[in-house]
Amino acid sequence: MTRASRRAFVAGNPAVYEFTVGDVPHALVNVGEAGVWDGAKSVADVQKIVETNRRFWGGLPYPRYLFLNVLGSGGGGLEHKTSTVMLASRWATRTREGYLRWLGLVSHEYLHAWNVKLLRPIELGPFDYDNENYTTGLWVSEGFTDYYADVMLARAGLATPAELLDALGRQIADLQNTPGRLEHPLSMSSYDAWIKAYRPDENSPNTTISYYTKGAVVAFLLDAEVRSATRGARSLDDVMRLAYARYSGARGFTAEQFRQAASEVAGRDLSAWFARAADSTDELDYAPALDWFGLRFRPAADAARPATGWLGATTRTDGGRTLVTQVRRGTPAHDAGLNVDDEILAIDDLRIRPGELDTRLRQYRAGQNVTVLVARRERLLRIDLTLGTEPSASWRLEVHPEATAEQKARLDAWLGRG
Ligand SMILES: [Zn+2]
Repeated sequence: MTRASRRAFVAGNPAVYEFTVGDVPHALVNVGEAGVWDGAKSVADVQKIVETNRRFWGGLPYPRYLFLNVLGSGGGGLEHKTSTVMLASRWATRTREGYLRWLGLVSHEYLHAWNVKLLRPIELGPFDYDNENYTTGLWVSEGFTDYYADVMLARAGLATPAELLDALGRQIADLQNTPGRLEHPLSMSSYDAWIKAYRPDENSPNTTISYYTKGAVVAFLLDAEVRSATRGARSLDDVMRLAYARYSGARGFTAEQFRQAASEVAGRDLSAWFARAADSTDELDYAPALDWFGLRFRPAADAARPATGWLGATTRTDGGRTLVTQVRRGTPAHDAGLNVDDEILAIDDLRIRPGELDTRLRQYRAGQNVTVLVARRERLLRIDLTLGTEPSASWRLEVHPEATAEQKARLDAWLGRG
């Protein structure tokens, strides 16, 4: 969901692929295929996404739907009531990674036809595109949509279970590597979207958390919570359908009403659960969800091969200079006092040329001490630090090798293979 002009025109000679699902006409309109994009494969897969959502929601809420897919070098999408406009790489159908990303975009924007365009926080309606509006509910609108975008791909058979777990693990790693999760509760990151998420700066990861990312992770944990509370009889799917039946259209839901619907489906008061997950900065508890589905975080890589050195600063190359763009709390760079806009010149007195930083760091091991030479506003500084271990690797999800038959059956139910 982004601010954008209210009218869009697509002119030119696009490739149009029409299909019907449940008698409702749809079309995928690819602008700029240029002999590179695989139109036939993409439309077959978009149709599967539509069919999976139709089964999930029990129908289609529009008379006709258009997927406008503008190919070039961009990325992103905007949802409308009966269409979506997407910007994607022309080369996306050529690699598994690129194609999965595109399918995820389709799945996300299309799901908004229900979650956002029809089922939305009460503060957002009637939609007013000219003024800022404040709501604590965007983590349901965007985060849950992100979660289901990936789940739907798995249920449609377009992503493997391992690919779904990989996508979810990335979201968890992203959350757990963002220090702002300990500063800014999820519901407030939604409320403050106009002053934080839409106006990011180099310190944002230290002060706030994305309601897309944490919202998706919380959706996963809530799904497991409802399943376990009902011994697998019900799930977050039922919560979404109940909320949709009760609050869609002009009604909208308050934060309290959404939580109440979840408690009803779970048959148990979840208000304390929501207070922790959405309104506090406490760490999320992954154990119940891992236990329910028989999953685990992949153990740290080969202990015999120590990890390569990790600085923990984000950089960009600008006019031949390596400039620090972000320093997250809890990283070696932050602990040693590296600053945004520092220019990294050398490590251990050996010059770092533009683009060389990552390669150079791979020559070191975690735990090694180095001296980083930086230029800070024309002054040269030597900063001593101890390289760390890149933490994201430890949040990769996988099926537990000792998962029981019962856990495997729950995983199948989640993936729609029951
Ligand atoms: Zn969205």
